[in-house]
Amino acid sequence: METKKITIAGAGLVGSLLSIYLAKKGHDVEIYERRPDTRKANIPGGRSINLALSDRGWRALERAGLGPKIKEMSIPMYRRVMHDKNGNLSFQNYGLNNEAIYSVSRGGLNKRLMELAEATNKVKINFNQKCLGADLEEGTAHFENYETKEKTTVKADLLFGADGAFSAIRGQMLKRDKFNYSQEYIDHGYKELSIPANEDGSHRMEREALHIWPRGHYMLIALPNPDGTFTCTLFFPNEGVPSFESLKSAQEAREFFKEEFPDALAMMPNFDEEWNENPDSSLVIIRSYPWKIGNTTILGDASHAIVPFYGQGMNSGFEDCDILGQLMDQDLENWDEILDAFQKERKPNADAIADLAMRNFVEMRDLTADPVFLLRKKIENRFSTKYPQKWLPLYSMVTFSHIPYHKALELGKKHDAIMHEIMSMNDIETKWDSQEVEDRMLELSKGL
Ligand code: FAD
Repeated sequence: METKKITIAGAGLVGSLLSIYLAKKGHDVEIYERRPDTRKANIPGGRSINLALSDRGWRALERAGLGPKIKEMSIPMYRRVMHDKNGNLSFQNYGLNNEAIYSVSRGGLNKRLMELAEATNKVKINFNQKCLGADLEEGTAHFENYETKEKTTVKADLLFGADGAFSAIRGQMLKRDKFNYSQEYIDHGYKELSIPANEDGSHRMEREALHIWPRGHYMLIALPNPDGTFTCTLFFPNEGVPSFESLKSAQEAREFFKEEFPDALAMMPNFDEEWNENPDSSLVIIRSYPWKIGNTTILGDASHAIVPFYGQGMNSGFEDCDILGQLMDQDLENWDEILDAFQKERKPNADAIADLAMRNFVEMRDLTADPVFLLRKKIENRFSTKYPQKWLPLYSMVTFSHIPYHKALELGKKHDAIMHEIMSMNDIETKWDSQEVEDRMLELSKGL
């Protein structure tokens, strides 16, 4: 393939990984990033947000040769630990075969990917460069230096917009005829809190687990960090009672936590400061199409931003890079063909994971505390362990497989219909592990 000069807007998680894929194919890449270089000592690291990295993300990292370098900075989480209001715990393994999802610091991962991109010697990252717009057909982008206000126009063979959910490149596409776009803020937002380490640096709760306090219309989750701390996220309604709006002070929030999340609150000595200082952030779903116009293509959150409840936003963005990498390896005529095939393959999957992520919100906040749901999981897991070729639970399809998201969603809907029948069998609570239930599952799953 002919070597190209390529511009990427955004050195976030997806832009950095994409640059490595392109550099490995021999292309010359320049990234323009709005923020300053967060690797420099005088730049505050920001809050310690961490993300769950799962198989799709890992495969993309591994194909770029980065798997071991990222694994060393991540913590496996083998199960969900559910906390009820009395502090009682219940457990649910993520996979059937000891699979894990991995907690990794977003800032740490981003810095590492930028380092690895520069180490290819084919990628240059320019910081403090805010994209203002682009000539999409040409692949020319316009930037402004945040500090000096100097404006630059960069012409390359190809332009990629990896500039996140509020992408300036997508903003340019919006002005075009026949560009479809939707943006939906959901009724819930989130706030980050933290649980510090014990004095000896150990974790205050089970380390290799994702902790959840499911409470119906809202939930708290906690992911472990290597330094012994946990980053907690409260997903909470924006309005109504209770909501971010109704809790008017840290004191009121503390009283609320005493009732709802007492064991978590007992581990949060900095609760009041964090409640006051950390913003209430919003959650948005963005869909768009086409992703390619002329010599310009958007990917990652710039083209498909989703809510975080399946832990798949970054994973799906990394999978974008993986699929693009596979298309680059195929015998396609030119970049127009590659990028057209890319958007056609990815769009239905982006839509499916957006739907799946909302669906998982209901499961996490509500159903993980529901005995009927837990029984359904037990039946499915038993069946799946015995007949792995016939039945892979939806969570495993999304998280531990590479089945395209849209196929996983379709199969998940069929599973729902089957499980609805199974759960309506008489005395299912007592005979859930009987031959009768197994035979019925075998019969119903024949057409899958
Ligand atoms: P971003 O990470 O947003 O990067 C975009 C980059 O572009 C940034 O560096 C930004 O500074 C830069 N930029 C923006 N505008 C401009 C401009 N005009 N000019 C130049 N540069 C610009 N995903 C998971 O897979 N697992 C999880 O567990 C998970 N948890 C999440 C929890 C929360 C609370 C949230 C909000 C998201 C979560 N996600 C998770 C989603 C994940 O964070 C995103 O999908 C991922 O960061 C997308 O990467 P990106 O590179 O496309 O965008």
